[in-house]
Amino acid sequence: MSSQVTLEKITNLCKRRGLIFQSSELYGGFNGFWDYGPYGTAMRRAVEATWWDYMVEQRENVVGQDSTIICHPQVWKASGHVDQFADIMVDNKDSKKRYRIDNLLEQQSEEVLAKVAELMGSETDIGKLEAAFETKLQEGENIDSVLLDAKVIDPSTDKVGDWTPPRQFNLMMQTYVGPVFSEENKAYLRAETCQPIFVNFQTICNSTRQKLPFGIAQTGKAFRNEINPRNFTFRSREFNQMEMEFFCHSDDSMDWYNFWRDQRLAFYSDVLKFKPESMRTHDHDKLAHYAKAAMDIEFEFPFGWGELEGIHHRGTWDLSQHAEFSGQKQEYFDQARNEKYIPTVVETSVGLDRLMLALLCEAYDEDEAETAKDGKEVEGRVVMRFPAIIAPVQVAILPLSKKLAEGARELHAKLKPFFRSEYDEAQSIGKRYRRQDEIGTPFCLTFDFDSLEDNCVTVRERDSMSQERVAIDKLANYLMDKIRG
Ligand code: ATP
Repeated sequence: MSSQVTLEKITNLCKRRGLIFQSSELYGGFNGFWDYGPYGTAMRRAVEATWWDYMVEQRENVVGQDSTIICHPQVWKASGHVDQFADIMVDNKDSKKRYRIDNLLEQQSEEVLAKVAELMGSETDIGKLEAAFETKLQEGENIDSVLLDAKVIDPSTDKVGDWTPPRQFNLMMQTYVGPVFSEENKAYLRAETCQPIFVNFQTICNSTRQKLPFGIAQTGKAFRNEINPRNFTFRSREFNQMEMEFFCHSDDSMDWYNFWRDQRLAFYSDVLKFKPESMRTHDHDKLAHYAKAAMDIEFEFPFGWGELEGIHHRGTWDLSQHAEFSGQKQEYFDQARNEKYIPTVVETSVGLDRLMLALLCEAYDEDEAETAKDGKEVEGRVVMRFPAIIAPVQVAILPLSKKLAEGARELHAKLKPFFRSEYDEAQSIGKRYRRQDEIGTPFCLTFDFDSLEDNCVTVRERDSMSQERVAIDKLANYLMDKIRG
């Protein structure tokens, strides 16, 4: 990530260039919901397609599925979401601000944290403190005044808050299916894309030639009624996930866990070209009782390190839960081993919109470029250094004069089937370059008066700003090599 990048610069650029902006802005926006404009949509589809290609299409042992967003409510009972998928929240009655307990505690001084820990009988580690709040709430212990007694500060006012008792808040979004809004018609929007994979495991086993070990992947929308959506698309209420559940024998599960961790790290470094210093891994200290291992792949956002992807060993937990709740066995007969067992699962799970934000932060740069403005030689430019495979526009065709429109449009028509391309003849060539730099177009083709004679165009590379004359009939291969390379 460039040291110049701030979240404000990213959100401004995204709005200015129509990449990502607030949903329902006309009505003042809707907190936690984001819309993607033409360039944002093109890029998000490209990122998803790149993930899908890497995780599914290039492999023989991973297949895809696409489930509904609303599933049978029992799915979420079995997964534990209905009863346990909750965050703890508190409100400050003075400032009317609402916080998730872990976010609030993260922003306290050591003294305040020590006092909270003392009152809770816990260590000062935020994860452990949060777990202590959960346990005490579930056990019905009275912890109503802990935050008041510890004089917890409201970060928005820097004063001690008048805190409501901490309470659990379920993150599942609810709806009703059918004409009557009754308890038995209550349903949920999926909180993650992976549960329908577990539900479909037997059907996919029976309808394909896949044998264990193999994986099932799914991408799509997930919904969480987050208490405090923030940091642009990092924490949204509606977002996209890209998940893969790999089913294997428990004996091999740690080898697969290590395999998928390495594959996922390679995806970020080799395919999406993240710099090594922008990423780190973090092993979970506290594991779910059924898991042998879990880790996060983190990215350094302008607001600090944050989880981008989780790699989880889920044991046989999910399939066992669905077996219990559906009354149908979720076993697999392994011919090679001559053994019947419930498969163990290794999961890779990344949020597409969080990844978009990471890509935007990683790509953002400011430098100087040539200009013809007011006798100046250079001017500052913002340049998004996206890898060419996911850039919203891969090739821009820019005629030097509107008089050259016919030839330049013909060239555009030739390249359009192969690349995400754009034709632009408005404004000076310098301004057009700046615009393409800001949306991260890796190649600009300038069609000039000589092009009519020599059938060549000038290819300008975004990063080096080098210019090369290339024959039009060789362009498609030339660009293909550069974009794939
Ligand atoms: P967090 O601790 O940040 O809430 P999580 O551990 O609950 O995340 P998972 O349930 O493991 O996240 O979800 C997998 C991935 O989905 C995350 O790594 C993240 O990229 C993405 N994700 C989760 N919640 C959100 C959200 N509210 N907005 C955007 N992306 C999200």
